Amino acid sequence: MTRYERQRHRMVEYQIRRRGIRDPRVLGAMERVPRHQFVAADLREHAYEDNPLSIGRGQTISQPYMVALMTESVVPRPDDRVLEVGTGSGYQTAILAELAREVYSVEKIPELAERAKGLLSRLGYENVWVRIGDGSTGWVEEAPFDVIVVTAGAPEIPAPLVEQLGVGGRLAIPVGSAYHQVLNIVRKERDGIRKVEGTGCVFVPLIGTFGWKEKGSERHS
Ligand code: SAM
Repeated sequence: MTRYERQRHRMVEYQIRRRGIRDPRVLGAMERVPRHQFVAADLREHAYEDNPLSIGRGQTISQPYMVALMTESVVPRPDDRVLEVGTGSGYQTAILAELAREVYSVEKIPELAERAKGLLSRLGYENVWVRIGDGSTGWVEEAPFDVIVVTAGAPEIPAPLVEQLGVGGRLAIPVGSAYHQVLNIVRKERDGIRKVEGTGCVFVPLIGTFGWKEKGSERHS
């Protein structure tokens, strides 16, 4: 076992499993994906700590526990097609790609999208497509999706994302103010949607047509 593998194993045991994440597929994916490769060289020593970390351009790679919690809450299955909004470093993308058939990920900052795309390809993920754009409007050409994961905080649930969810589909999205949100889990049924509000969280703002305005403090109208 390498030093990073040992650190990753401890992360899974102490930060993830002992906090209540029990899905063996999710735990297995968290054991396999090399989180240290998704951060800059000078942050690698901190890659398996219990924190988000900077990935540049004012954005972050999410806290490992939050990645595991969001992933478990949408129950990705081997045949699922997944939409991720907010590629960032590509770490959550890789976790989803370990568990589902296809992952479509949208990132609004071109530099981050290109970097994540290159890394995911070097790591051998052939079931991932990364696009530059406003993911608050979804990815209509590839809809419907079985799972949608939004890794940025929204003022409310974007209507296009609910529309692009198939029947039986699950959506995880932090909803609240620009500074604090609650994780919302939405399930689309034949007769409407069921919504459960979960844990409090802090994500960078979802900026876009169905998110916040660029400065992050007002609703986009
Ligand atoms: N899941 C990512 C990871 O593991 O690295 C964390 C992503 S970070 C918390 C949120 C990302 O959402 C940022 O990279 C940000 O640029 C992106 N973002 C914000 N608004 C967006 C939008 N409307 N469409 C696509 N990406 C967006």
